[in-house]
Amino acid sequence: MVWKWLAPTEIYFGRNAVKENGEVFKGLGKKALVVTGKGGSARRNGSLEDVLVVLESFSIKWKVFDKVEPNPSVSTVRTGAEIARELGADFVVGIGGGSPMDAAKAVAVLAINDLSDEDLFAVKFDRALPVAAVPTTAGTGSEVTPYSILTWPEIENKKNLASSIIFPQVAFLDPGYTEGLPFDITADTAVDAFSHAFESYFTVRANPLSDAVAREAMRILGPELAALAREEIPSYEQREKLLYGSLLAGLAISQTGTSIPHAVGYCFTYFKGVPHGRANGMVLPCYAEFNWEKTGHPKLQEAFDVSSFDSLEEFSLVIKKLVGRPPECSAEEREKFLSIFSQARGIANNLVKPTEEELAVMLHKVLENGPKG
Ligand code: NAP
Ligand code: FE
Repeated sequence: MVWKWLAPTEIYFGRNAVKENGEVFKGLGKKALVVTGKGGSARRNGSLEDVLVVLESFSIKWKVFDKVEPNPSVSTVRTGAEIARELGADFVVGIGGGSPMDAAKAVAVLAINDLSDEDLFAVKFDRALPVAAVPTTAGTGSEVTPYSILTWPEIENKKNLASSIIFPQVAFLDPGYTEGLPFDITADTAVDAFSHAFESYFTVRANPLSDAVAREAMRILGPELAALAREEIPSYEQREKLLYGSLLAGLAISQTGTSIPHAVGYCFTYFKGVPHGRANGMVLPCYAEFNWEKTGHPKLQEAFDVSSFDSLEEFSLVIKKLVGRPPECSAEEREKFLSIFSQARGIANNLVKPTEEELAVMLHKVLENGPKG
């Protein structure tokens, strides 16, 4: 087997990672556009202030674009790119959950390329501004992935802009920023992180190194999911584990991509407003059951063992406790979702590609609240 690993992001991990490594920003340029979420959490958790203080200390001119909504739209990143152009930004800093970090990557592309929406997603560009990423959720791993997931109303779905050009140049991970995360967002994002590692492990693109990294992510995240399902409030040490686990899971999918849970989950998010991680979690148990029944692959047992789940049943119970009931969907909606996600690239990335009929059965089971338990 011939395989490749490309993960060029420089990573700083630990409390005060930004403040203690501020000189890294100097190498990125003299003007920065700082992209963050519209809810103001980056102001409250200290991440925005840390970045701005460091930029000031190196006389880097900055402007804040704080209008990014969850599941950012193409039009939002176009607005951000306009501001980057007016500023003459040399680089972009994305601070927040996956939404602001993904938005920052697309802004970095659109700030220096004139592209239609189609050409943006078709990656008709060969350069982008450098991006620094500062996660404040422990879930997406976007700080180390070459993906920007944008909501694109023209196709009534979310769409993955994927290119090695948008790997962040540097990532600063400070678990302290996640300490004030509300419990539901902590749980949703932890499920997203676990889902990345789990899906990566069963992709056709998995390789020995992505598997090793995914296994380590599952080893760390599995017990944390179980603790969250018991409604334990995470300590700082657990926040650290969640952020490290999501980093590892992000590194795994940076090489392999995701598969069925993400493809289906995007529809639940786009049409039903279900938060990203929770949407994946609703699909995970039935997806695991499908792979189990279809392939009987020994990696399934390995994944449960390494994550400290006794069985598929226990796994399903934990995930269901964390994500709750799936949304009510009419027959028309089910048809529509199926027609959309069955075309998604991620479907064929699973170990075994389901037929349209198998996908319909899986969707039915998901919406009837899972296989077992
Ligand atoms: P998010 O959409 O970035 O944020 C969700 C909510 O959490 C927002 O209201 C946000 O508030 C709030 N929040 C963020 N950090 C907080 C903190 N420290 N304390 C309190 N509230 C905080 O959520 P996410 O799950 O991290 O990201 C989801 C997005 O990432 C989706 O669009 C998904 O498709 C994408 N994603 C990308 C990748 C990738 O590789 N690029 C992988 C998986 C998922 P604010 O409005 O203040 O920000
Ligand atoms: Fe995800």
